[in-house]
Amino acid sequence: MKHDIILPVGGNQVVHDESQFSGTAFSVSYPETVQDVSDIVRTCAQSGESITVHGSLTALNGAGVPLYGHCMDMQRLSQVTYDPQDQTVWAQAGASFQSIEQTVRRESHMTREFPASPTEKTATLGGGLSFHTAGLRSFRYGSVADHVLELEYCNNKGEIRRLARGQDGFDLFLGSEGMCGVITGARLSTVPLLPHVWGLIFFFDNDDTAMDFASRAEGLDCVSVLEYMDSACFRLADEYRDSLSALSGLPSAPDHHAAIYLELESDQEESIEQAAEELLCAAEELGADPDKTWSASGDEVEQFRGLHHAITECVNMKIAQYHAEDSRVKRLAYPIRLTGEGRKAALQYYRHALADSGLDYLIFGHLCCRQVLTLNILSRSAQDYLRGKDLFTAWCAQDKKEGRYSMHRCGVGKLYRSLFCSTAPLDVLNKRIKSKQRFDPENRFNPGNMFTQTTL
Ligand SMILES: Cc1cc2nc3c(=O)[nH]c(=O)nc-3n(C[C@H](O)[C@H](O)[C@H](O)COP(=O)(O)OP(=O)(O)OC[C@H]3O[C@@H](n4cnc5c(N)ncnc54)[C@H](O)[C@@H]3O)c2cc1C
Repeated sequence: MKHDIILPVGGNQVVHDESQFSGTAFSVSYPETVQDVSDIVRTCAQSGESITVHGSLTALNGAGVPLYGHCMDMQRLSQVTYDPQDQTVWAQAGASFQSIEQTVRRESHMTREFPASPTEKTATLGGGLSFHTAGLRSFRYGSVADHVLELEYCNNKGEIRRLARGQDGFDLFLGSEGMCGVITGARLSTVPLLPHVWGLIFFFDNDDTAMDFASRAEGLDCVSVLEYMDSACFRLADEYRDSLSALSGLPSAPDHHAAIYLELESDQEESIEQAAEELLCAAEELGADPDKTWSASGDEVEQFRGLHHAITECVNMKIAQYHAEDSRVKRLAYPIRLTGEGRKAALQYYRHALADSGLDYLIFGHLCCRQVLTLNILSRSAQDYLRGKDLFTAWCAQDKKEGRYSMHRCGVGKLYRSLFCSTAPLDVLNKRIKSKQRFDPENRFNPGNMFTQTTL
C-alpha cells in the first residue's frame, strides 16, 4: 500500500455539494488506481471506519457529503478507454461525463457518441450511476445506467468484483447513492453519431397546451430531447443573464407560461424538416405563435442545451445567496411525476397548492424515461424553507395514496431522508434496506444516506 494514502483532515475543513448541505470527515483519500481503492477500504474496515465516497459533488441532496469517518474523493480515478472493436467504452468511476463524451467522439473518429450524459458535464460516472442520472437526451437514449454493460466495484472487504447487466445484484447498485460499495469503473455502450440535429423551443400560454403539445411530440421518431420549462425559469435566467455566458447570447423570451424544448435528430435532414413542420402545425393549433418559436441547428443547438444547465446553475446560485444570508436555507426540489393523461392534473395540483403560499418556485425538467419534473422552491429564509418542507411532506403522503410516489427518483441523500423514511411505500423502503443488508451489513459505506443508523 502507498504511504500517506489516507490523510488527516484539518479541524474546520468542510465538504458541501450543490444543495449547500455540508459536513466533515476525519480523514480523506484520493485514489488513483483500483488497487488504491481496495487498500483504502481494507484499512478502513480494519479500523472500523465508515467511508463516504464522492465524485465532483454536484449532487443536489448531500448524498456525497460525509458526516464523519473517512471521505474518498474518486476524481483522480479517471481513465477512459474506447474499444473500436466492440464500440464500447471503459470508464473509471471518477471520469467526468465531459471526458467520456470527448473520448468516444475522438477515438471513434466522430462516428459514435455516449449520448445519455447529464447536463452537468463535470459530474463523474460513479456519481451518475449512484444517482441514476438522466440527461437532456434521455428521452431517446435512456439514463446513464441504461448504457452500462458491466460494472466494477470494491466491496466492503476491499475485494474488486464485476457484475454484468442482468446478473443478480446489478440493478441494486444503480441508484444506490454509494451505499452498496465503491464503484470503480463501468463498460458503457455507445450509439452512432447522427449528422443532423435541430433544436426548437415553443412557448405556450398555459400548462395544458404545453402538455398537449408534448404528448404530440412524443409520437415522432426524430425527437431526442423533450424538456419542460415554466416562465419562472426564464425570469430567473434573465436575472443572471450578465453573469452566465450560456445565457448572454439568448434573446429575451416572449410572454408565455410554459415552454417545451425539443431536439430532432436524424441521419436524414428531410426527416427532421418533416417533423419540424408537423410540430409547428401542432403548436399553432394549440395557440402558440410560430413566429415566436426559437430554432437552431447543428452546433448552434449547444446554446439551447446550455439553457437547461444554466437554469439549474441559476437555482443553485440563488440558493447559495440565500444560504449565505441564513445557513438554515438549503436547496428544496420536489420531483413531480408526470404520466400519461394525469400530467395536466398533476401540474395543476402542485401549482394550486403553491398559489397562496407566497413561496417563489419554478418547475422544469426532462419529460423522459422517468417522467419527472423538478419543482424548485427558492427559499428566501428559514421560514420559507420549513414551509416548503411541510408542503413536501403533505405531497409525499398524497402521492403515496394516489400511487405516484416519486421522492426517491431524484435522489434522497441526507437532505430528504426523514421525508423518505416517513413517507415511502414499503416496497421502495424494503428494496433499499435489503440491498444495504446484502452488500454492506456493517453500514460501512455512505452512512446517513436514505436512512439513519436506527432504520437499518
Ligand atoms: C448545474 C447542474 C445541472 C445538473 N443537471 C442534472 C441533470 O440534467 N440530470 C440529473 O440527473 N442530475 C443533474 N444534476 C445533478 C448531478 O450533477 C448528478 O446527480 C451527478 O450525476 C452527480 O455526480 P457527481 O460526480 O457530482 O456525484 P457526487 O455529488 O459526488 O455524489 C453523488 C452520489 O454518488 C455517490 N458516488 C459518487 N461516486 C461514487 C462511486 N465511485 N462509487 C459509489 N458511489 C459514488 C456519492 O456517494 C453520492 O451518493 C445537475 C447538477 C448541477 C449542479
